[in-house]
Amino acid sequence: MDSELHSHAARYVQLLRRSGKKDVWLPAGLTRRLPAASTPSPISPSPSSQTSAARNTPPVTSLPSSSPHLPSPSSATTASPVPTSKPTFHFNLNLKDGSKADRLAELKKKASACTICPHLAKSRTQVVFGVGNPEAKLMFVGEAPGADEDEKGEPFVGRAGQLLTKMIVAMELTREKIYIANVLKCRPDLPGKSSGNRKPTRDEMDACLPYLRAQVAVIAPQVIVALGATAVEGLFGPQKMNMTRLRGNWRELDGVPVRLTFHPSYLLHNQDIALKRLVWEDLLAVMERLDLPISEKQRGFFLKS
Ligand code: URA
Repeated sequence: MDSELHSHAARYVQLLRRSGKKDVWLPAGLTRRLPAASTPSPISPSPSSQTSAARNTPPVTSLPSSSPHLPSPSSATTASPVPTSKPTFHFNLNLKDGSKADRLAELKKKASACTICPHLAKSRTQVVFGVGNPEAKLMFVGEAPGADEDEKGEPFVGRAGQLLTKMIVAMELTREKIYIANVLKCRPDLPGKSSGNRKPTRDEMDACLPYLRAQVAVIAPQVIVALGATAVEGLFGPQKMNMTRLRGNWRELDGVPVRLTFHPSYLLHNQDIALKRLVWEDLLAVMERLDLPISEKQRGFFLKS
């Protein structure tokens, strides 16, 4: 295993162990090379020197082999095959039995009370949990709420959201039929500024990811679309390639195929029809994967005549 992969794995295991998780499950082959779980030594970093997010990561029962922080074996550097494995969900936020809608409602309640990132808990208007159909076969995942989303409590309601809605409609779907969420559920704070956005930090995304993975576990979609570089990083850890090379590829999150594509806001800033076509090709691939009907007209969208 290369040293970068090893250090990602080690970092994540340390994060879990620092947060009190002792029985971290490791994929076979990694166990011999990772640091042993140890009781804190006098020279271990004191809790106060750890990041607040690392100390308070929500409880995780086990680390799946397709952890977002361990590039999965199917993570290819070029066009990757569609993953075929069955979903395997390992996160347990102790949700009660019930319908998907009930379990999502319970999870939303937990997320809405979350103070793992105290700075975000303080600055947010509300937690932007997610919206859509608990039985959805398709889920879109973005990076974090912006000002509009923070105000309305719903993901993707600003300009990028309006474009996402158009993309969904072009697939002959509606927002009510699918599910939309972000890696980070709180708007990243901007101390001293009254407007703008900032990219979520690694710690913030690591802290929040269990909520998204629990949403995925409850909804059990057949396909996820990851929108933009930050969502991809949030789901799968830091990437060596940029989105131009990443898009068009399939990855896997807890057994669910994930199609990587550009964020709608990137399309708003680059009005090139060729770029729209690339995103549309990603959505056509998703439709094929979902066995949705595709008309000739749809196949030809954004092709220059
Ligand atoms: N961009 C995102 O990634 N998510 C939103 O909810 C809105 C804009």
